[in-house]
Amino acid sequence: MNDCLFCKIIKGEIPSKKIYEDETVYVFEDINPTAPIHYLVIPKEHISRLDEVNESNSAVISHIYEVIAKLSKEMDIKDGFRVVSNCGETAGQSVFHIHFHMLAGRDFGWPAG
Ligand code: 5GP
Ligand code: ZN
Repeated sequence: MNDCLFCKIIKGEIPSKKIYEDETVYVFEDINPTAPIHYLVIPKEHISRLDEVNESNSAVISHIYEVIAKLSKEMDIKDGFRVVSNCGETAGQSVFHIHFHMLAGRDFGWPAG
């Protein structure tokens, strides 16, 4: 995806503060954090949005949750954390490369805004 911001971040064409990387997943700090810890967890494969997940690409989504669990233990955030994936403009998605916000370090209200 030539024009995708997050594909460019994965390729290093746009700088980012990397937290973690493996063969299929990239994790970096959100440029505009909404919590003391605000990471973006993304697959290296370009998937636009959550409703494009299917049986041929869902393995990476499963792996993303393994990475999130591992990072949460390393960060020692015993009080809890929140994971959010906005799907579509109405839900607040602004970058159309699927991503999971990993948020921690403050109280979170419910229901979500
Ligand atoms: P969305 O609104 O699609 O759920 O989340 C997109 C997120 O990407 C936003 O939280 C926004 O701050 C973040 N973001 C947008 N552009 C950049 C960028 O160039 N670098 C980084 N690190 N984050 C970005
Ligand atoms: Zn992309």
